[in-house]
Amino acid sequence: MDVDESAEPLIAGYDGVVCDLDGVVYRGADAVHGAPEALQHMVARGIRVVYATNNASRVPAEVAAQIAGIGAPAAASDVVSSAQAGAARLAGQLDEGAAVLALGGDGVVEALRDAGLRPVSLDDHDGGVGLDGVKAVLQGLGRNLRVRDFETAARLLTAGLPWVATNDDATLPLPWGQSPGNGAYVDLLAAALRRRPEVVGKPHPPLYRLALERLGTSAPRTLAVGDRIGTDIVGAEAAGLDSAWVLTGVDRPSDLVASESSPTYVLTSLAQLLQPYAVPVSDAGGWQCGGARVTCEGAALSVEQGSAGPIEAVRAGLAALLSLRDEGAPREQLRREARALDRLLDDSPPPTR
Ligand SMILES: [Mg+2]
Repeated sequence: MDVDESAEPLIAGYDGVVCDLDGVVYRGADAVHGAPEALQHMVARGIRVVYATNNASRVPAEVAAQIAGIGAPAAASDVVSSAQAGAARLAGQLDEGAAVLALGGDGVVEALRDAGLRPVSLDDHDGGVGLDGVKAVLQGLGRNLRVRDFETAARLLTAGLPWVATNDDATLPLPWGQSPGNGAYVDLLAAALRRRPEVVGKPHPPLYRLALERLGTSAPRTLAVGDRIGTDIVGAEAAGLDSAWVLTGVDRPSDLVASESSPTYVLTSLAQLLQPYAVPVSDAGGWQCGGARVTCEGAALSVEQGSAGPIEAVRAGLAALLSLRDEGAPREQLRREARALDRLLDDSPPPTR
């Protein structure tokens, strides 16, 4: 859609939202400030919301319980997982009831079953299916997987069976830091097998297609909201959806200018979907947004925030730097200049961070 400043809240241009979770709705066990209330307001306005998650290890009911626990509206049917997208992909190419090796946790097993397939683990209780009866492999993160599960998968995949991975995130954030994510375990098999799976989770389009199906909204009237540029924003662009990049997660303006992405909107937090959106506009030698103005000498950024909030200055600064990026300016130089925008956000008091 065309983006115009108006008195209407940003969300008025949309019927549905594909919402990321960690860094957008919650961070670990805590709600992102204002996010549950904003989601309640949107649902009360008649906006459809689904939560799209690459996390394939948990079942949707468990994810929905966490969302509802912080006061946001959520039923299990509002959660779209990469395991469901993977199971749907396989259900489209296999006979109903076909046996599929569930190389993952409960989320993978349940998604296969719900898609009309037969999840098997080829453990001691494989129900007599045996290797010959298995028609495909669905790989998602499972924290109880053992080396021999990967050996079984390798044996099946060597025979050329279809191989779908829920997601290829290299890391899994845990309270102490970064643990190997499903992508690391995909790489482990890929290194041995010299083939790679089809991947359905963000930033790949199948998860977004499933989310649209669940919402029942058209792509031009659906907004994808996320905090990670490499998954949420790249994925929205690949799926042909408008995107709102929220700054409550890990990625900062200096990460955006080093990427290839241009989100449709840049927001302090999810709650800004309920406010009018001030669009950055170029003027002679600079960019304005709200009351903020940014000028560029070469790539050197000069920011006058004026009476505007930090987010308006950040939008103006990003508009300037992204237009230089698209003209081929060196990424490292842009990243250096964008650190002034990172600081603007990081120095602003909560809850606007
Ligand atoms: Mg996230």
